[in-house]
Amino acid sequence: MKEEKILVIGANGQLGTELTKALQTAYKPSQVIATDIRPQSNPDADTCFEVLDVLDKEALTQTVRKHKITQIYHLAAILSAKGEENPILTWDINMKSLLHVLELARERQLDKVYYPSSIAVYGTKTPIPAPQWTVLNPSTVYGISKLAGEKWCDYYFQKYGLDVRSLRYPGLISHSAPPGGGTTDYAVDIFHKAVRQEPFACFLSENTRLPMMYMPDAIRATLELMHAPAEKITIHSSYNLGAIDFTPAEIAQAVKALIPEFEMHYQVNPLKQAIADSWADAIDDQVARQDWGWKPEYDLKSMVADMIANLKAKIALQA
Ligand code: NAD
Repeated sequence: MKEEKILVIGANGQLGTELTKALQTAYKPSQVIATDIRPQSNPDADTCFEVLDVLDKEALTQTVRKHKITQIYHLAAILSAKGEENPILTWDINMKSLLHVLELARERQLDKVYYPSSIAVYGTKTPIPAPQWTVLNPSTVYGISKLAGEKWCDYYFQKYGLDVRSLRYPGLISHSAPPGGGTTDYAVDIFHKAVRQEPFACFLSENTRLPMMYMPDAIRATLELMHAPAEKITIHSSYNLGAIDFTPAEIAQAVKALIPEFEMHYQVNPLKQAIADSWADAIDDQVARQDWGWKPEYDLKSMVADMIANLKAKIALQA
């Protein structure tokens, strides 16, 4: 049987750091090639890492050839809030990189491609909870690029039979790597302040409800989708994926239940607030549940408890 060789692009980011580890466990460390435009800050002896700019198609082609890559997880992107600072650059990076990956996968007949989409594809006209098939009218360049990206993925499946799979992640919450400039980053930052007994200024208003997901659920969803038999996959644009939804006031209350001295106040950032207000605040993920058995494990309470325990353990190790 052919040995799978997996290329992760954008492996140093919030998602890539943990997905690379999970892929190394699901396969063998030597089967996973982690790449990023930034060098690794803490080189990991078990990880085969290379610096790669996905916009350099020649370098990407060489990497795929050299390692006999069979699957690509293309995670590199500029996220929502950061994207609004430079819309043209964001469009260029998000779209060009995906087209490089899809073209190379088609030319070299790779087995599979994974492309993360986002709740940023919904918009103010999307019904709530957001159905799988619905009005999508994103207002950020990030959301527009993810929607176009989804359509390109589906195009390569329909036209060339390329097995591209994708999930529309909610805001991801994790303790391993810092978030990369999204509108839901407050839900990670809050924990770092709380465990250090520092007050936290939240950049969204107290009743801003958004869909979120704890990283272990996101990683499991990704691997379950990618390992599902091809005949189970009915959507090659991107699957809706739900887990938890909460407001800043609700997460603050859950944190306070474990760290009673925690204090949060609101310092609303108008740009981030406008982005959050344009997104659906809950997701209908019935199709993912039916097609490949998706079911989240973490609710708000268990996610908060696990985040705090892990960050406290990290601080204790540093002391
Ligand atoms: P991140 O910003 O933390 O990481 C992105 C990584 O891509 C960074 O390490 C960056 O150095 C790398 N990168 C940027 N330009 C590159 C280039 N030209 N070549 C190679 N690498 C490059 O982002 P993340 O949170 O890990 O997100 C990963 C993916 O998941 C993205 O596509 C994002 O849109 C999607 N997503 C994330 C969230 C979330 O809440 N984190 C939610 C929905 C979707």
